[in-house]
Amino acid sequence: VSAKILDGKILAAQVKEGIKTDAVAAKREAGRDIRIVSVLVGDEECALKYADAQKKVADEIGIIYDLARFPQDVTQADLQAAITQLSRDPTTTGVMVHKPLPEKINEQAVFNCIDPLKDIEGMNAKNIGNIVLGRGQILPCTAAAVMEHLKAAGIALRGKEAVVVGASEIVGKPLALLLLQEMATVTVCHIATTEAGKLKDHVRRADVVVVAVGRPNLITGGMIKDGAVVIDVGMNHVDGKMVGDVEFETVAPKASMMTPVPGGVGPVTVMMLMRNAIEAFRLQQQQESS
Ligand code: NAP
Repeated sequence: VSAKILDGKILAAQVKEGIKTDAVAAKREAGRDIRIVSVLVGDEECALKYADAQKKVADEIGIIYDLARFPQDVTQADLQAAITQLSRDPTTTGVMVHKPLPEKINEQAVFNCIDPLKDIEGMNAKNIGNIVLGRGQILPCTAAAVMEHLKAAGIALRGKEAVVVGASEIVGKPLALLLLQEMATVTVCHIATTEAGKLKDHVRRADVVVVAVGRPNLITGGMIKDGAVVIDVGMNHVDGKMVGDVEFETVAPKASMMTPVPGGVGPVTVMMLMRNAIEAFRLQQQQESS
């Protein structure tokens, strides 16, 4: 068997058409613009490149994308005050924050300065909590992108063994809840799973494996059940090349479907941010008119 490659660029292009139509309709109805403010602390080249890529997509969709930059040594108080103000600005539809933030900054405290209705990355405690309650409206973009891939590939999750490797707040944990909502039987593996020597045992049982760790080649072909669906969220720079967490050469012959890196989850994640911006815009209009 050789895995079918789930091409994220093609999926992103398809999703983009729908988002574009939605943006035009939402703006026409409200008679105003949709505007994202993207907060970037420091001047890391990767983050700047990512912001450029996001701006390009926003332009294509008809969403205004403004970058708000802060020095690397910004204080917690100053950053929180600035984000609170950006979020309160009535011309701001959504606020996102580039990660990682400097180590001394408490990330969650920063996310919680964003109005939940403007939190287009779905990282505010209220939006995260709503996922647990099964009524998430604005979902974390990467987790939403993984679900979009599975949906587009026609994977029925009900009763399937789904194994999530990585338990971060931004990807692994919300994703586990979204898979659970689709009635998969969900196992979450993390550093202690690997330390206990149990990672292979869990991954081998999986019908669907999602890997979001940030370690090249963590998952190899010998760990994959024949015919499993493998989604690789990892983005690692190795010798000037971007690679995922899954060893492509050994996993491709075993899996029935898999995402490549680059060009798998990444391009769809950007689209989920734009979709969230439109959803946030609609929710704000509803709130204003109620
Ligand atoms: P993170 O916050 O560093 O979380 C990584 C998770 O993996 C943690 O739960 C960590 O556990 C666990 N882990 C670490 N080493 C492990 C091991 N050997 N075995 C099993 N679990 C292990 O990272 P993240 O923000 O979730 O991102 C994960 C990866 O996805 C990164 O490569 C990132 O660049 C990529 N990413 C991609 C996109 C996209 O759009 N494609 C978006 C976001 C992130 P501990 O915390 O307990 O150590």
